Amino acid sequence: MNTICTQSPPPRSALILGAGPAGLALAAACAHEGLAVTVLAPAPMAPWHPSFGAWEDELHGLFSAEELGQVIAHRWAAACVATPAQPRRRLERPYVRLSTGGLQAALWARCEAAGVQVIAGEGVQVQPIPGGQRVLDAAGQAHAAAVIVDATGAGALLRRRSGGPGAVQSAYGLQLELDGHPWPLDEALLMDWRAPLADAEGPPTFLYAMPVSATEVFVEETSLIAPVALPFALLRARLLARLSGLGLPADRVISEERCAFRMGGPLPVRDQALLGFGAAAGMVHPATGYQLSRSLREAGPMAAAIRAGLDAGGPVEAARRGWDHLWRPALRAQWAAYGLGAEALQRLGQSELQGFFDAFFALPEPDWRAFMSGTLSRPALASTLLRFFALAPSATRRALMRAGQGVEGLLFLPRLAGA
Ligand SMILES: Cc1cc2nc3c(=O)[nH]c(=O)nc-3n(C[C@H](O)[C@H](O)[C@H](O)COP(=O)(O)OP(=O)(O)OC[C@H]3O[C@@H](n4cnc5c(N)ncnc54)[C@H](O)[C@@H]3O)c2cc1C
Repeated sequence: MNTICTQSPPPRSALILGAGPAGLALAAACAHEGLAVTVLAPAPMAPWHPSFGAWEDELHGLFSAEELGQVIAHRWAAACVATPAQPRRRLERPYVRLSTGGLQAALWARCEAAGVQVIAGEGVQVQPIPGGQRVLDAAGQAHAAAVIVDATGAGALLRRRSGGPGAVQSAYGLQLELDGHPWPLDEALLMDWRAPLADAEGPPTFLYAMPVSATEVFVEETSLIAPVALPFALLRARLLARLSGLGLPADRVISEERCAFRMGGPLPVRDQALLGFGAAAGMVHPATGYQLSRSLREAGPMAAAIRAGLDAGGPVEAARRGWDHLWRPALRAQWAAYGLGAEALQRLGQSELQGFFDAFFALPEPDWRAFMSGTLSRPALASTLLRFFALAPSATRRALMRAGQGVEGLLFLPRLAGA
């Protein structure tokens, strides 16, 4: 594989570009399906940095008991969302913080056990060849496979539909040692939208706080969604202002996180031979920024679709089945609806976002759970959006109407419901 390729690749082979969570989960799943799999990434073994969080129930069935012990760093029995109207809204849904190193090690262990090969290199161009495709790396080497998947996060090698660039979630976080703090140890503070900030008229942000023990906490000032990333200096200043307002010093820093990633934006076109997976393929939830659980959940079915396509008709059929699985019509409609919500969210200020989340969490629990997990069926999503519309304050309704371009937006709901 690690030479200039002129020959056809093995008919049951896959090359995964990227060694992030999506790439490794898919590589292991494809190898499990019996494919000869190679992962190509610039520094495949480099440690990951993001600190990942997820609803515990979303991880059910994705890891063995042994892996779970390695992957889950901390579990909270419930989550909490705070607004001025409801400063302590407890959501009875367990939330977990993942061990970044543990997750990476668990996915590599799966890859190793399944015989995945690893090459260090940066894919810069993908070309069709008889029997599949080949990717040229930055050093001029070519690597061929029947199926190639872009799981590079940014997904620069994929062709996309036209459309705006989507939005950005940005955050600045500190893992702190403290003498004490005000947060209950059994609750993850998912969002505190109260704004004890001097610049309350500025772009809206919230506090995310994960108390690890009575003397250790991870706190993060987060811009949920905005056209561009907020400057880290602004997020840091707000976080420090919040902590100081709570009488908490920030001088014993264990670690720091700077986070900015794209959400939403145009999906890849489906009539291309290069497949995509993870953030590269538009799988980041356009309104919440969560992605990890979905790519872990989809890795197995996606690998099965690729293998079945290879067996049934070869590389072209594998690409078709892969894209059809990943962006099946129900999911595309769902994503379009989330995109509406995402656009509306970007138009709201701090106090309007407080009203938005008061209404959102006033929805029946199964609705907000499934909306956040991205698992609502089309009719359920349509009725959830209508219920939300009825509950929402007028500023939110106006923003939703503008995001959906008025009547057009409302016509979208019956289409979503499959009418
Ligand atoms: C700081 C941060 C915190 C996040 N927190 C959460 C969270 O709590 N929960 C959640 O669900 N989501 C979260 N996300 C969003 C999302 O889940 C992550 O971005 C996740 O890492 C995306 O996984 P991925 O494998 O698709 O891409 P990435 O993790 O970005 O991995 C991409 C891989 O591709 C490689 N690569 C890049 N270019 C090339 C190339 N040209 N050729 C070959 N390889 C290449 C990279 O080296 C890397 O190995 C967070 C994102 C960030 C940045």
